[in-house]
Amino acid sequence: MRESFTDQAVVCKHCKSFFRVAGSVNVSEKCPECGGELDAAGAFNLMFQTRIGVPKGDSDSNSGVKKSEGYLRPETAQGIFLNFQRLLRFNRGKLPFGIIQIGKAYRNEISPRKSLIRLREFTMGEAEVFVDPREKNNHPRFEDVKDRMLRLVLGEGEGGGEEEEKSVGEAVRSGIIVNEYLGYHIAKVGEFLERIGIPRDKLRFRQHLREEMAHYARDCWDAEFLSERYGWMEIVGVADRGDYDLSAHASFSNADMSVHAQADAQGEAEPAKLIPHVIEPSYGIDRIFYALLESSLYEEQVGKEKRKVLRLKSEMAPIKAAVFPLLNRDELKKKAREVFQKLRDASIFVEYDDSGSIGRRYRRQDEIGTPYCITIDYETLEDDTVTIRERDTMKQVRVAIAEVKDVLVKG
Ligand code: AMP
Repeated sequence: MRESFTDQAVVCKHCKSFFRVAGSVNVSEKCPECGGELDAAGAFNLMFQTRIGVPKGDSDSNSGVKKSEGYLRPETAQGIFLNFQRLLRFNRGKLPFGIIQIGKAYRNEISPRKSLIRLREFTMGEAEVFVDPREKNNHPRFEDVKDRMLRLVLGEGEGGGEEEEKSVGEAVRSGIIVNEYLGYHIAKVGEFLERIGIPRDKLRFRQHLREEMAHYARDCWDAEFLSERYGWMEIVGVADRGDYDLSAHASFSNADMSVHAQADAQGEAEPAKLIPHVIEPSYGIDRIFYALLESSLYEEQVGKEKRKVLRLKSEMAPIKAAVFPLLNRDELKKKAREVFQKLRDASIFVEYDDSGSIGRRYRRQDEIGTPYCITIDYETLEDDTVTIRERDTMKQVRVAIAEVKDVLVKG
């Protein structure tokens, strides 16, 4: 989440293109489009303005319907804060608890560019984890993650800008990461990104510099992916936002955002009425997809031709298997359709394809990451066995139709 939705812009004096001042472009440089001179264009609002109400005619007075100014949400988090008291009741008044939400967010980016990386409409997955501020160094499952190694780029202070490989436990103990709760969620972000298939050597966590960090944020880290085309780029942000959000909502709406916290089991923390603190992992889903696609696509030479393969893990592949008749003959097609239907009935996402040569059908599936291809031939008609070809090794094994499901599920 950002502290304010404004960015600084520059404009090219020659081609009039606008750019946001961020990392790559600033006023002392030349226009990335035409090489012209750049000029400061001031701050601009990233929020998409709209009008709420029924638009009849051009002016509000003609329509007789009051229209009010509105903004499309620039992040998903605010709905969670608005509903805080209701969500707290769901959790029977106790801290900690976390709420996750996925949805569209809109930002009026002046220079939407670079594939899925800078969009005006994008998908965010956010979690707001509400925690008793006295317990931030006492995460109940910190043990599970403390040995996870992270590549960290430090912000200001001693070692600022340097890269270090450290375990989460060490980083929290030495104060590099501000507390256990934040450390736990940074570790979980790393675990998730690796689990879906983003290579470890293309990931790092970069701590925000003080000037990047919102004044109230205690600590903030970006998970960055090393793109071959665009360099290091933020894909997930993880921040300790203190009590800022709930306090700000409370002061603007007069709603009570406090919690009656109980004494802890050791009797160290007294019962208190307090405003919870928020730890927020904010996942940019489109950028994560981009990172996954870029790091999964390979080209390799097979005989005389090049083969494109999207090496997605089986659990990430949209299509788990494709079913083919070896030849375009009715009896093979009928049997292939039966196998296809059987797998569908078992809730496996499969595709049927009988067009073009078998080699071409394999390539089509390789390119979209399908881990298995199942081929029905004349032997199938005799003994109910098929061949299963694995995408990466291209090895084929013969198995009974009754066992196909198990092979796909285990794979
Ligand atoms: P932020 O609230 O700015 O930290 O954004 C949260 C996450 O949303 C970032 O880590 C990005 O992955 C993603 N994101 C932000 N702006 C855009 C955009 N214009 N297009 C696509 N993804 C974005």
